[in-house]
Amino acid sequence: MNPNEIDIHKELKKYFGFSQFKGLQEQVIKCVLNQENTFVIMPTGGGKSLCYQLPALIQEGTAIVVSPLIALMKNQVDAIRSLSSENGVAHVLNSSLTKTEIAQVKKDITSGLTKLLYVAPESLTKEEYVNFLKNVTISFVAIDEAHCISEWGHDFRPEYRNLKHIIKQLGDVPIIGLTATATPKVQEDILKNLDMTDAKTFKASFNRPNLYYEVRTKTKNIESDIIRFIKQHKGKSGIIYCLSRKKVEAIAEVLQVNGISAVPYHAGLDAKTRARHQDMFLMEDVDVVVATIAFGMGIDKPDVRFVIHHDIPKSLESYYQETGRAGRDGGEGHCLAYYSYKDVEKLEKFMSGKPVAEQEIGFALLQEVVAYAETSMSRRKFLLHYFGEEFDDVTGEGADMDDNVRNPKTKIEAKDQVVQL
Ligand code: ADP
Ligand code: MG
Repeated sequence: MNPNEIDIHKELKKYFGFSQFKGLQEQVIKCVLNQENTFVIMPTGGGKSLCYQLPALIQEGTAIVVSPLIALMKNQVDAIRSLSSENGVAHVLNSSLTKTEIAQVKKDITSGLTKLLYVAPESLTKEEYVNFLKNVTISFVAIDEAHCISEWGHDFRPEYRNLKHIIKQLGDVPIIGLTATATPKVQEDILKNLDMTDAKTFKASFNRPNLYYEVRTKTKNIESDIIRFIKQHKGKSGIIYCLSRKKVEAIAEVLQVNGISAVPYHAGLDAKTRARHQDMFLMEDVDVVVATIAFGMGIDKPDVRFVIHHDIPKSLESYYQETGRAGRDGGEGHCLAYYSYKDVEKLEKFMSGKPVAEQEIGFALLQEVVAYAETSMSRRKFLLHYFGEEFDDVTGEGADMDDNVRNPKTKIEAKDQVVQL
């Protein structure tokens, strides 16, 4: 299909009701429609889904979308179906389907009705599915959360490593890889593993000018410090991340006792309780959710006003992702991390049981977090540099939005020395 003949603005309006593309979407979509391998690096909330959904909807054939989480796939399928009068326009293919359901999916794909087929990477390895997909028209393969392919990413999934091998069996189909992880190492890994070093790369800025970054030294008064912080943000929504389930429970309880409406969230709670607590947070029945990193993937609450890290994260990617849940509406978002070297040692001890290669990567990533916590330079500049992005800490957008810039300790000391001379 000649992309020049399609009015993609019209299609955007028709399918999604939006009158404008966001960021690099238009360029990306043109590239995909051109059947080129495409690599998209955009922060969370940047609008990556549309980069493959729109071309899939307007092109002939079915686009295969690989995504790591069944819940996210289901959300997307529901969203696409609501845009169309045909249920068959989007399907999920996974192990939970009955034989009858699988037959329906296959029928809809064969008849050309299905434009988007979401599959988990492990389902895509099933011979039955591969054999079926070999014989239908595939428009392209989209690999969402493509950083899962890299050991240097924050969510390595070995199944992602087989993708290229499977895609090759489907014939010469273009690939679009998408991720919100911007470290140069992960990008390199993705392109190499998907064998698409020729891909056109589109990278958006990762700067979030409305987020304020702050690191505080962790002391034994951390709980009262957090309570004070939350009371200063009365009635605002916030997330507190803790390393362990036990800590999550303990902090949630301390907050409740102190009159703060908070619920715990971690993988140790049963699914029903988890869903209820998540809903309570989304519906603003509670202000605060205290959680392990199990919370947040795909959560789209626009007005989260603070994200507190009770314990330091294991990498700066994780930190960026987790803090990225604040201020999605462009309003205030305070990102506060508590740091003590003891926590670093604890994390290192956790990792010591792992295979050596994994350990080495883990340590290296952690050292970057330490450097971030201990730096006296602009935290925003530090973070963006980590993502391979230059940032001017004087004129850049959001330049004064961090503790180091607002209270430049070392600079004041240096100035004092100059005066004394
Ligand atoms: P990502 O996958 O990059 O995290 P999503 O694809 O989930 O981001 O999109 C984030 C939000 O942006 C969604 O609510 C989506 O509807 C919205 N969005 C995407 N493209 C546009 C657009 N062109 N105009 C307005 N909103 C958009
Ligand atoms: Mg996404």
